[in-house]
Amino acid sequence: MRIFDPHIHMSSRTTRDYQEMYEAGVRAVVEPAFWLGQPRSGLGSFVDYFDSLVGWEPFRAARFGVRHHCAVALNPKEANDPRCAGVVDLLPRYLAKDTVVAVGEVGYDFMTKEEDDAFARQLELAIEFDLPVLVHTPHRDKAAGTRRSLHVVRESGIAPERVIVDHLNELTVRMVLEAGCWAGFSIYPDTKMDETRMVRILQEYGLVRVLVNSAADWGDSDPLKTRRTGEAMLAAGFSADDVDQVLWRNPVACYGQSGRLELEEVPAAPDATFAGDSVLRGPRGVSRRGSGTGTARSSTSCRPARRPAAGRRAPVTRTAR
Ligand SMILES: [Zn+2]
Repeated sequence: MRIFDPHIHMSSRTTRDYQEMYEAGVRAVVEPAFWLGQPRSGLGSFVDYFDSLVGWEPFRAARFGVRHHCAVALNPKEANDPRCAGVVDLLPRYLAKDTVVAVGEVGYDFMTKEEDDAFARQLELAIEFDLPVLVHTPHRDKAAGTRRSLHVVRESGIAPERVIVDHLNELTVRMVLEAGCWAGFSIYPDTKMDETRMVRILQEYGLVRVLVNSAADWGDSDPLKTRRTGEAMLAAGFSADDVDQVLWRNPVACYGQSGRLELEEVPAAPDATFAGDSVLRGPRGVSRRGSGTGTARSSTSCRPARRPAAGRRAPVTRTAR
């Protein structure tokens, strides 16, 4: 089973997750920008975060055989914080980078005026940079929030097939598919949407323009929920080809619209480092470097080393465009 997780917040996960994802069949991901778990104090916090999404995180993923892409945006929750005003002006320099395959997550949280403005401006950026856009739908009053999101999308003039509307459920899927957008579903362990309900939605609405993700983040979540959904599909009588469509070909078609996906197998590069640091520990990392300690300690420390320039890429061979 080959899997492309089109929405997963790997910055909040461990390398063990990457390893288990690889073993489960995950070969590529899109990590949308999201919140820190606590309020950010200013623009510099976003710069470091976006830099990590185009630098350190793709490097970390590649060490475990996973192709990492990202989406950047000011997320709806933070659009309400005046300290974050100005983030949208930072976005163009990131939207030009090779591994940035979309604008996102944008959309609504509380549906405030500030969220309205940030949403509309970022849809304009998606059009300007010719990129797909990932729209988060609010967890409260989801149907109204989804309806309003689709209205804003329509007003913006962006092609609906370049829009992913995410975190959907049984109440919101129809309006999104009828609008011509991609329908995204985040599968969680206990809340919101699970793999059994997901299979029922696939049975009712079909496999076209449907994306399944694990959304794994700071909270109770499971980066293997894509795999679990594939297994549930097979158990319900879907074919292996159906699973491949939902878990691989659909996200590839959707984010392939960016022209920036890289899906070739990651070549092994056990000695690779990022700004002098390796993420590998123990025999896989340390002994190959001929050092007993340095790598492990420095790999995750916050030391004043030279920071990689925005857009610095993991030292992997680029073979596909
Ligand atoms: Zn998310």
